[in-house]
Amino acid sequence: RPVVAVVGRPNVGKSTLVNRIIGRRAAVVQDIPGVTRDRVSYDARWNGREFVVVDTGGWAPDAQGMAAQIAEQAELAIAAADAVLLVVDATVGIQDVDEAVVRVLRRSKKPVVLAANKVDDQRTEAEAASMWNLGLGEPFPVSALHGRGTGDMLDAILQALPEAPTEIFDAPRGPRRVAIVGKPNVGKSSLLNKLAGQQRSVVDDASGTTVDPVDELVEIGGTVYQLIDTAGIRRRVKEASGHEYYASLRTQGAIERAEICIVVIDASEPISEQDLRILTMVEEAGRALVVAFNKWDLTDEERRFYLTREIERDMVQFGWAGHVNMSALTGRHVERVGVAIESALAAWETRVSTGKLNAFLGRVVAAHPHPVRSGKQPRILFGTQAQAGPPTFVLFTSGAIDPQYTRFVERRLREDFDFQGSPIHLEVRARE
Ligand code: GDP
Repeated sequence: RPVVAVVGRPNVGKSTLVNRIIGRRAAVVQDIPGVTRDRVSYDARWNGREFVVVDTGGWAPDAQGMAAQIAEQAELAIAAADAVLLVVDATVGIQDVDEAVVRVLRRSKKPVVLAANKVDDQRTEAEAASMWNLGLGEPFPVSALHGRGTGDMLDAILQALPEAPTEIFDAPRGPRRVAIVGKPNVGKSSLLNKLAGQQRSVVDDASGTTVDPVDELVEIGGTVYQLIDTAGIRRRVKEASGHEYYASLRTQGAIERAEICIVVIDASEPISEQDLRILTMVEEAGRALVVAFNKWDLTDEERRFYLTREIERDMVQFGWAGHVNMSALTGRHVERVGVAIESALAAWETRVSTGKLNAFLGRVVAAHPHPVRSGKQPRILFGTQAQAGPPTFVLFTSGAIDPQYTRFVERRLREDFDFQGSPIHLEVRARE
């Protein structure tokens, strides 16, 4: 789905407008200036088209301190967006900050729709016209509070978005969503801090309030990702004292929302049931997977020997996942996590053409025909990839196929096409 980033300086009414666009009161409007949450994304729909709205914090380019962090989030949001909705306050006219924002937007070369907010009645509509001076074209006079004019504005946003993808399983747009999961104390937040930089939790020094980022945008290895539920990772105290049941629900929720999961495992301790349960959740959800064996600095040769044995014994089922041996403490191989994420996502989104797939199936079947069952020879007639993310294949067969044979075909598929890091699904439709 295409992504719309909503930007503007503090107090112009962004969150109220976002609430209008998404049609519910989900975006929490905070009245204390400067204590807007980091950035949050929502699913939205207008005229039958679905898109994602990213609500950025009150944004001033060249800002300092907490504002600078919000600015960075806003700039990442813009970089990842297909279109930008710039919100200005029609009742106060153009401010220096608005002009600075416009300069950044120009550089970004993204299509911009300009909303002149707080036009609550006919009388103030004239004030909106002064926003022509920003040089962004027609300002749309809106009242986020009353909903006035938002329809025309939404029409303009849809026009600014790229055409809807024609292919059914075209690669999803917008930043990929990454969930960092694992049992308590394995080093999730340490890894998060290493990936995202140390100071990402936005703290307002003046009021002493910590504003938890919900889903942070983070650049890893040159690609912008959306880290799911970073607040959940950071609120460690609650996680440790809370019931495991709730922690598990939270983990499940994060996995469902993500496209790729980093499962962090403490390499210095035996792989546990809980680790395996989390891995199973990821597999069952059909998400791409990178296993990060953390705390490598605490492992000695003996421990590594046993770890290898444990992996062979308990993790064969997850042999398809990407692995990184790393240390969030020393920084060892943390950059490889980024590389592993990228290749796992590429595998997850792979599309094999029907021609290639059937050439492959022909080769496999010729070399290893299905065993004869009660005098009949079940055959794979034809195959097609029904879906990507994760790759899902449908095999049309004559007669029932042994599950064992299906697993064999799956293994060969993995060997021929590189699906490292992604689960793949095989469905069999038998024609009698
Ligand atoms: P979380 O509960 O999964 O978020 O785990 P934390 O990130 O809070 O880490 C738990 C503890 O393990 C903290 O004391 C960290 O300093 C420590 N830790 C995290 N990663 C490493 C690592 O790579 N090596 C070592 N030696 N300690 C680590």
